[in-house]
Amino acid sequence: KVELRGVRKSFGSTEVLRGVDLDVAAGEVTVVLGPSGSGKSTLLRTINHLEKVDGGSVSVDGTLVGYRRSGNKLYELREREILRRRTRIGFVFQNFHLFPHLTVLENITEAPVSALRRPRREAEEAARKLLDRVGLADKETAYPKQLSGGQQQRVAIARALALEPGLLLFDEPTSALDPELVGEVLDVIRDLADGGTTMIVVTHEIGFAREVADTVVFMDEGRIVERGTPAEVLDNPVHERTRAFLSKVL
Ligand code: ATP
Ligand code: MG
Repeated sequence: KVELRGVRKSFGSTEVLRGVDLDVAAGEVTVVLGPSGSGKSTLLRTINHLEKVDGGSVSVDGTLVGYRRSGNKLYELREREILRRRTRIGFVFQNFHLFPHLTVLENITEAPVSALRRPRREAEEAARKLLDRVGLADKETAYPKQLSGGQQQRVAIARALALEPGLLLFDEPTSALDPELVGEVLDVIRDLADGGTTMIVVTHEIGFAREVADTVVFMDEGRIVERGTPAEVLDNPVHERTRAFLSKVL
């Protein structure tokens, strides 16, 4: 369960998030749409505290990610505690961000072994199951550069899953891929959705949003201006901005 309340974020004098409220129930998939620069990536980054917020709060499963509350004041947690809490949240980036010098299997076991202190053998066993799940059982000894973009992104998803996160965040996971590779990545994300993983997915793949999302939100200029079921937001948008955006991407 994710709860954002009045989240504000500025870079210098530019206000990028202007009071965002967002609720994602456990097991639900929320797709975030919006034009370039509307604050979608920044919003995701505040959720796992890669960006500090200037106001408001972010909680995941009832726990504030970057802060502890004392009375009605918030104090930022120490780096180590933030890192520990962040392991509960998986993040999949547009450009995969795999470790180039590690094999596929090592990419997946790195965090469980170093951050969660799992025994290596146990982590490898779990990693092999994950590779099987994303259809890459035969690639464990490959290096990232030997894989297609779609394969690399599926490894990145397996790596995120290795920490058994309660929440997965995807920032345009298919927009760096050749068109013919988009489907294989979306299929993996769809499987996760069917399995009940809580997810927030920033994507311009409208067909995917329609099929997989429980909720679609439309962001513009740092605010969520529209929120509803896929049918509501995609077929009957209320706001002129949503309509203008959809007419460009559909
Ligand atoms: P896109 O669809 O292009 O990925 P977005 O909706 O993800 O866009 P953000 O990346 O969140 O948008 O950026 C929102 C605004 O914040 C942009 O104007 C961007 O230039 C600015 N911004 C983002 N990160 C930083 C940063 N670290 N420093 C300064 N400005 C930033
Ligand atoms: Mg972005």
